[in-house]
Amino acid sequence: MCQDVPDLFYNSENESRSLRRRKETAAKKLCAQCPVIQQCRAHAVAHRELYGVWGGMSEAERHRLAGRVRTG
Ligand code: SF4
Repeated sequence: MCQDVPDLFYNSENESRSLRRRKETAAKKLCAQCPVIQQCRAHAVAHRELYGVWGGMSEAERHRLAGRVRTG
């Protein structure tokens, strides 16, 4: 799923906030249908993945969960 559309799951610096939000929403929809969503999310949280949508969670959501402040 995500391997086929990696650009959807990661943002680049020159993207607007609205584009980022649209991409995150679309990525999360794919994650919601993924058979390994729970394992993927657990991996991302355990390994403190900083970037991209993993297991249906955005970067900002994982940062909040970890108690980090995201500045970018
Ligand atoms: S849950 Fe993980 S493996 Fe599945 S589509 Fe989302 S990012 Fe990819």
